[in-house]
Order: sequence, then C-alpha cells, then structure tokens
Amino acid sequence: MSAQIRPDLDSIPAYVPGRSHPGAVKLASNETTFPPLPSATKAIAEAAELANRYPDNQSGELRTALAEFLGVTPANVSVGCGSVALCQELVQITCSSREDEVLFGWRSFEAYPIITQIGNATAVPVPLTQDHVHDLDALAAAVTERTRLIFVCNPNNPTGTAVGRAALTRFLDAVPSRVLVALDEAYYEYLRWTPEDRPDGVEFARTRPNVVVLRTFSKAYGLAGLRTGYAVAAPEVITALLKVHIPFSVSRVAQAAAMASLEARHELLERTDAVVTERERVYRAVSAAGYRVPPSEANFVWLALGANAVPFAEGCAEAGVLVRPFDGDGVRVTIGDPHENDLFLSFATDPAVAGRFAGG
Ligand SMILES: *Cc1c(COP(=O)(O)O)cnc(C)c1O
Repeated sequence: MSAQIRPDLDSIPAYVPGRSHPGAVKLASNETTFPPLPSATKAIAEAAELANRYPDNQSGELRTALAEFLGVTPANVSVGCGSVALCQELVQITCSSREDEVLFGWRSFEAYPIITQIGNATAVPVPLTQDHVHDLDALAAAVTERTRLIFVCNPNNPTGTAVGRAALTRFLDAVPSRVLVALDEAYYEYLRWTPEDRPDGVEFARTRPNVVVLRTFSKAYGLAGLRTGYAVAAPEVITALLKVHIPFSVSRVAQAAAMASLEARHELLERTDAVVTERERVYRAVSAAGYRVPPSEANFVWLALGANAVPFAEGCAEAGVLVRPFDGDGVRVTIGDPHENDLFLSFATDPAVAGRFAGG
C-alpha cells in the first residue's frame, strides 16, 4: 500500500519538465542571458572550497551589506533561498488555518496560489484590470476579517505592468495595518519611471510595519541558478521569517556570489539599460504587427493571446525560440540579447504568423 499523502495536493499539477529543444533560444524564464561577472565567479570558486562547512545560517555578512545598500539595519533584512522561498515563509508566518486568506491579483506570479495551498491557507485571486494592471481598489475591497497576507507583484509577472507610488500609497492607506502586504519587486531594477512615480517598496517598508518588500538576485543580478533573494521589513516580521527559514538553505556559494554581485551592482545595473532598450524595440515591433501588448516595466513582454497562447508558443518553439505560454491567457517573452530577440521577432512578425495570432 502506498503512503498516505495529503489528498488536497492532487489539485496541484505535478511538475512536468518542458520538452527539450536542443539549441533553442530560451526566452521562457526571465533569466539574464549574460554569465556572472568574473568577480562573482571568483567568489563562487573560493566559497566552494569551504563546502565541507555549513554556511552562516543568518547570512550575516550579506544582510549587513544589503542593509547598508538599502539604508536600513540588518534587523530589517532577511535572506532566502530565492525570493520564492521568502514568499512561502510569508504564508507560514501569517496563516495558521484554512480560514486564513491570501489575496493577490490574477494573473500574477504562478507560485502564489501554490504556496498558499501548501501553507494550508485559502487563495483569493482578484482579477487584473482590462489593461492587465493590478486593480488595487478591487484588491483593497477584497480584504475581509480573514485576510492575512496580500501579494502585490510590481512590476507584475507575467504581464509586465506596474503601479506607481501614488496608487500604492492610497492602497496601503486603505488596507488595515493588521494585514501584511508583500510588495514582490523581483523586476524592480527594470522600472524606468521618474523618482516621483517610482514605487520603491523599501521606502514603504521603512515606514510601515505591515509592509514587506521582496527582491532577488535571480533577475537583474543574473544569479538565478544560485538562489538568493531578500526581504526588507520591520524587525518583528524579519524575526518571524528567521523562525520558519529552512536551516542553511542559502548556501555559502550563493551568499558569496550575491555579495560579489552587490559590490559590482553598477556594472550589472548598466546591463539592465540594454535590456530596457531591447524591451522597447520588441514592444514596438510586436505592437506594430498587431499583437495586444501592455507596456512593460520588466525584462519581458506579455502577448495577450487568449486561447492562442499554447499554439503560438508551440509554433515559436518549432522556430527555435522557447517562450512561456499561460494556457488560455497569454505568452510571456523574456527579453534576451538583440540576436535572440531578432529570432523571436522574425517568427512573431512573420505575416503568416501575425495573421494567424495577432489582433485576435
Ligand atoms: C522570478 C521571480 C521571483 C523570484 O525568484 P527567485 O529566483 O526565487 O528569487 C519572485 N517573484 C516573482 C514575481 C518572480 O518573477
């Protein structure tokens, strides 16, 4: 007889590895196309020599460096095995029964409903606006006595849209202070708004005890494979996060690479300018070809293809470019280097392809 597994897990799809397309260009996971900087590779090699030892469980050095960078104290910073682990920890520190609700816009980061269910809480998705932007009024209106946590992914994965500082301020004013609001800023470094409009979660987290901001080394800092993300919040939230943290889940190698990359941030953030230039070029090209694409503030664009999402992604894979379909909804295309983007555009803007998929 097989072991008894929680029956509710049946509703979570088992992980299905993507079909392999040898030699294909990968624009499916919002990664950086560049390898780590030489200084990071060197730090990785040095840290690897101490692999027989456990790492610093509290990532003390990295937290101190991050605190200095962000203008907060180390007691305001927690490091996780990717910021997705911190998302999961946030559910763990706020929810203790099925009655407890986690709110988020939808469509948004696909991990939110899954980690909510795994955390034995109830997910409450709130539709985005027609323009694929977070409907902050509807989110605030969906708060009930049972709401424990709200995720606001800004810029939003997978639609690329963002909400500005004034709108977020109004939203945070409307949410009761007993509800923890997580501003997931995995793509913050790709935002190109003026300082007045720029929604800086750290600024909110510094002044509001019920706001936690999540950022990651996986996207702009190019360390997706090493798994380091961080949270900034009031010390009470950080202390709770440390309690549920899986021991030693941020490796010494990951901590060292993150330290080196933080030191080299000027060079890494310059790379985001190249991505933004390419993002605008891809956006203009697909818009001109007739696709419905919201303006993006991230390192990807969203093609609102509805029922055509999967057929489009399949055709694109056959043309040698892997993109990420969300069945029935749309396709997320990561911005790569100019050559990779050209390959994507030559498929998407081909008159036969655009005729079949765009403007539908
Ligand atoms: C990529 C991503 C993350 C974090 O990824 P990690 O690699 O776990 O740090 C978090 N939130 C969103 C919305 C993302 O797209």
